[in-house]
Amino acid sequence: MNAASPESGIQAEADRCVKCGLCLPHCPTWQVHHREGDSPRGRIELIAALAGGQMEPSPGLRARLDGCLLCRACESVCPARVPFGHLMDQARERWPVQGIWWSRLFCSGIGRILLRFGFWLTTVSGLARVSGPLLGLLPDSIMLQRKRMLDAKGPLVGLFTGCVSDVVDRVTLNDAASLLEHCGARVAWVEGSGCCGALDRHQGRAANADAHVRGNAERINLRAFDRLVSIATGCSAELMDYPHLLDSAEAMEWEGKPCEVMAYLASQQEKLSFRPLQKTVLLHHPCSARNVLRDTGSAVRLLQKIPQLNVIESRHSQCCGAAGVAMFRTPQTARALAGDIVEEVSRREAEILVTANIGCALHLRGAFRAAGLDVAIKHPVNLLREQLQDRTCVE
Ligand code: SF4
Ligand code: SF4
Repeated sequence: MNAASPESGIQAEADRCVKCGLCLPHCPTWQVHHREGDSPRGRIELIAALAGGQMEPSPGLRARLDGCLLCRACESVCPARVPFGHLMDQARERWPVQGIWWSRLFCSGIGRILLRFGFWLTTVSGLARVSGPLLGLLPDSIMLQRKRMLDAKGPLVGLFTGCVSDVVDRVTLNDAASLLEHCGARVAWVEGSGCCGALDRHQGRAANADAHVRGNAERINLRAFDRLVSIATGCSAELMDYPHLLDSAEAMEWEGKPCEVMAYLASQQEKLSFRPLQKTVLLHHPCSARNVLRDTGSAVRLLQKIPQLNVIESRHSQCCGAAGVAMFRTPQTARALAGDIVEEVSRREAEILVTANIGCALHLRGAFRAAGLDVAIKHPVNLLREQLQDRTCVE
């Protein structure tokens, strides 16, 4: 093996694992299956053996790798600091996830047109209210777009519309724009920004992911913006990685500009005040917020500013099962993991579930409908916008 080969990079990262097993109880797939091959330690050993040529990539072994949700819970507790997310991305580049060709549609322009048409059709026909493996995922309504920039002198904030949010979560984009404007920002919708690249990268399609990164770097004139804000924690995590993925001149432009909407609003929280709401909300922290952005405090602090709102953080500290398109790839695992949250919402008598990642929201909406649970799912900015004092100044 060449010293500089991708395999040697994989081996070097895998060799950092001391096999202590501390990560196992934190791994959602190990929790569901209790098999070494479905644990971080088992997967690292498998990746090392495949890279070293001691094993052949049989369908059974590939299934163990494909089963990883890339939630990176293992990475956040590992004493040896194994960069598991990077290691798995490298492995998947070599052995891409199988059997999900259609997921490319999500990331393409044609896919977004088809998706928009599909959502429109299911919404006007009423099918969106039917529960089922796919239809249960759909939101009740698709929204109207609000495009407006206030004539103000505040910082210019680009609003990254992404791929899935752009089609199914215009409500949250509108609400985010209102809150940002309320904090004194001038908001420019970065239309047609497309996929951030995370979906392709985590399935091993690195070339496609890099093409999205380059495309966004070319389309978005970041020099014009003070910040680039995203409403999905998964996209925010990928956008913040752009400085490591671009050439040095462009990388410098991206350094420090992308920002998660909750973090941005939390930094401006003294400008926000809210009307009381007598409800109990269960706050679900997406893996990307917990294990990659490492920021769960911003959402807590902002929601706690709503008077009388009872904010309880989910005790379910594992992936909800959505994990990009893993909810379709390993539906049984995804259902089992979402089931824990359904149970927690019922047991703790939450009236609203709040999550800041569109993938989690869609997956959990499907699980709630399938369980007959009538609990609203919102992005935190939906709730903040609804309760915002002095809303008239931005409407
Ligand atoms: S915690 Fe880290 S070192 Fe220990 S088994 Fe898991 S990956 Fe390996
Ligand atoms: S990334 Fe998540 S699912 Fe994959 S091995 Fe680590 S803890 Fe388990």
